[in-house]
Amino acid sequence: MRLLVIGGSDAGVSAATRAREVNPTAEVTVLLVDAFPNYSICGLPFYLSGETPNWQDLAHRKAFEGIDVLTEHRAITIDPRAKTVVAAVSAERKSFSYDRLIIATGARPIRPPVPGVDLAGVYQLHTMEDTFRLERELAEGKSVVIVGAGYIGVEMADALTRRGLTVTLLGRSTVLPTVDPPLGRTIEAHLRDHGVTVYTDVELSAIERHETRLEVTGSRGVHVQADLVLLAAGVEPNAELGVAAGITTGVKRALRVNHRMETNLPDVYAAGDCVETWHRTLKRFTYLPLGTTAHKQGRVAGENAAGGAREFAGSLGTQVVKVFDLAVARTGLRDVEASRAGLDALTVETNAPDHKAYYPNSWAIQMRVTAERSGGRLLGGQLLGHWQSEIAKRIDVFATALFHDMNVDELNDLDLSYTPPFGSPWDPAQAAAQAWMSAQRTEATRRSLR
Ligand SMILES: Cc1cc2nc3c(=O)[nH]c(=O)nc-3n(C[C@H](O)[C@H](O)[C@H](O)COP(=O)(O)OP(=O)(O)OC[C@H]3O[C@@H](n4cnc5c(N)ncnc54)[C@H](O)[C@@H]3O)c2cc1C
Repeated sequence: MRLLVIGGSDAGVSAATRAREVNPTAEVTVLLVDAFPNYSICGLPFYLSGETPNWQDLAHRKAFEGIDVLTEHRAITIDPRAKTVVAAVSAERKSFSYDRLIIATGARPIRPPVPGVDLAGVYQLHTMEDTFRLERELAEGKSVVIVGAGYIGVEMADALTRRGLTVTLLGRSTVLPTVDPPLGRTIEAHLRDHGVTVYTDVELSAIERHETRLEVTGSRGVHVQADLVLLAAGVEPNAELGVAAGITTGVKRALRVNHRMETNLPDVYAAGDCVETWHRTLKRFTYLPLGTTAHKQGRVAGENAAGGAREFAGSLGTQVVKVFDLAVARTGLRDVEASRAGLDALTVETNAPDHKAYYPNSWAIQMRVTAERSGGRLLGGQLLGHWQSEIAKRIDVFATALFHDMNVDELNDLDLSYTPPFGSPWDPAQAAAQAWMSAQRTEATRRSLR
C-alpha cells in the first residue's frame, strides 16, 4: 500500500507515523514545501523571545523511521482519477502515485486587505522561514506594531518585549477575543504593566513607509510609527490544492471531511488546519485551527488510510496561552457562543486560591463557568491565573468533563488530587462549580418569587 501525505507538520507527520504503526509494510512518503519537517510552530514565539535559544530544539522529532520525508517538494496538482500527485522540486516536476492520499497542507496567515501589507518591514509568523526573516530584524531598542490581539499577537507581545523591543499591540476588538471581556481586560492590564502599548477596537486601514519607519493607521484616529510590523490577524485554510482536485469545502472554505477524515474523493483523506473540525458540544462543523486538533485528526486519517476504522471524536476548542506572568485558558462554549447556538446558558464568575493560602505563593484564579441554566449541563469554562497555578491542567478538568457531557454538579464528585502546596480539598475547578450551582439556585429562587 502506497500512502502519500502532502504536508510535513503536525497533521501530516501524525498521519504518517500512525499509518506505519497500523500497517508496518505501508510505503509512506511525506512531501513538504519547506526544509523543516515536524517543527513545532507553536514554539516559534519562545524561540524569538530567547527562552528557547536553539531553533533545532523546536523539532517535535528528528527521525522518521520507515517514512520517506521529502523536503522542498511542493505538491502542485492532484489527479484523483490517475491517483497521482505532481510536485515541483526547484525547476523540476516529479510525479508520485498513491493508493491512499492524505492532504495536510495546514493554514496560512491572513493578510488584511489594506494598502501596505506587502511593504518591506512587514512580517508574518507561520513557518521557520518567517521566523528567520523576522529574527534578522530584531534588535534591542527597535519598535514593533503587532496587528492582531489574539493568542499569537499576545504571545508575540510578550516575546518581543522580552527581546528588548518596544511593542504596540493593535486589536480589532478586545484583547484575546476568544475569552470573555473580563478576562481579556485582565490580560490587557497585564500587558500594559509590562510596557506594551495596547489599542483595542481598532480596524487597521493602512501601512505606509516614511523613510526608515513604518506608519500604521487604524480607525479611531490611531497612527503609530515603528521599525517593524508583525501581522497576527488569524489564519485561513490552505486548501486550494485539494479544492482544485475536486474536494468540497465548508466553513471558511476549509476542506470538508467526515468523522473518519475522508473527503468526497475516493481514497483521499484530509486533516489539520486545512479542514473543517467537528465541534463536540455544538454538534456541527466549525473551523478551529489548533495544533492539538491537527495531531488528533492526522492520527485518525493515518490510521484509516492504513486500513483502520477510527473516528475523530471532535474538538472543544480547548486552548491555553501564557502572557508574561499569567496564563489564560478556555474550553467549550462561552455565554455568547452558547446563546448563538440557541442554548439558554448561565455564566458565573468566581475566584479561588490556586492552593491553600497558608502555603507560600498562593495566587487567585479568576474562573468563569458556563452551563445550561436548566439542568446544569456544562458548556464551557475559562480560567485566568498565575502561569504557575496549573491553569492548563485545570482547564483540562473542564475539557474532560465536557467531553463526557457531565453537568456542573458532577464536577464535585471528581476525585481530584490535593496537598496544600498544589490545591485545596475542593479544587478551584470544584469551587467554580459550586459557585455556579449557588448562583443558579439564587436565580431560580428569585424567579419563583416573582
Ligand atoms: C506562532 C504560532 C503559535 C501557535 N501556538 C499554538 C499553541 O500554543 N497551541 C496550539 O494548539 N496551536 C498553536 N498554533 C497552531 C498550530 O501550530 C497549528 O494548528 C498546527 O501547526 C497545524 O498543523 P498542520 O499540520 O495542519 O499545518 P501546518 O503546521 O500549517 O503545516 C502545513 C504543512 O503543509 C506543508 N504544505 C503546504 N502546502 C503544501 C504543498 N502544496 N505541497 C507540500 N507541502 C505543503 C507545509 O510545508 C507544512 O509542512 C500556533 C501557530 C502559530 C503560527
